[in-house]
Amino acid sequence: MRKWHISRDITEYLRFYQEIGVEYLHDVFPRPQDCLETISADIARCSACGLHRTRKKPVMGAGNPQADLMFVGEAPGHEEDRQGKPFVGAAGKLLTDIILAMQFSRETVYIANVLKCRPPQNRNPREEEMEACLPFLFRMVDCIKPKVICTLGAFPAQALLKTGSPISRLRGKFWEFNGIKVMPTYHPAYLLRNPDAKKAVWEDMQKVMELFGKKAGHTKKSHA
Ligand code: URA
Repeated sequence: MRKWHISRDITEYLRFYQEIGVEYLHDVFPRPQDCLETISADIARCSACGLHRTRKKPVMGAGNPQADLMFVGEAPGHEEDRQGKPFVGAAGKLLTDIILAMQFSRETVYIANVLKCRPPQNRNPREEEMEACLPFLFRMVDCIKPKVICTLGAFPAQALLKTGSPISRLRGKFWEFNGIKVMPTYHPAYLLRNPDAKKAVWEDMQKVMELFGKKAGHTKKSHA
C-alpha cells in the first residue's frame, strides 16, 4: 500500500470517530497503561482463590507498560507482599543486577509474577491458585505485547509453556507463547542458594541480549 493511501485511510478513520462523538483516540484504542490499570483494579478485588485472605498487598507487576522484554517470576514473597511491588527483596536485588548486566533497566522492562498474592510462608503455588491467577498474566502479556518473556524458575515456564518438564530441561532455549519468544532460566532465589548456576543464567540471558542486538561485555548500564 502506498503512503498516501495509508494517510487517506487514517484521515477517514479519524473523521468517522469524530462524527460519532469520540473525543480521545484512547477511548477507542486503549493504551497499554490503561489496559494494565483495568487489570490492576480486577486483581485488587479478586477472590478467586484463598490467597487474597492472607496477603497484605496484591502485586501486579512494575515497569514499562510497553516493554519489549518481560520477566515473569513465581509469586510475591514477604517484602513484595509488604510493598506491593515485585522482586524487591534479596532475589529482586539479584534480578536487578541481571537486568543491568543485560544493558536494560528495571524501568525499561516489565516484571511480573504468575501469582499476584503471596502464598503463606512462601510455599509453592498450588495448582488451583495458578489456574485462578494465570488469566491475569495472560491479559497483562496481551496489553504489554513484549517481544521476549524471560521466565524465572520452573513455575512460570511450566505454566506458560503448558508442560511438566523440569526447568533444567527448559532453560537456555527459546520457546513460544502466543507468538512471543519465551526464554526460561533459573530463579534468582535459586541462584542465591546455588551461585554456581549463575553461569548458566548468564548464558541464557546472552541469548536474549543477542536477540535485541546487545553484546555482552558492553558495560553501559541503563540503555533500553
Ligand atoms: N520471587 C518471585 O518469584 N517473585 C517476586 O516478586 C519475588 C520473589
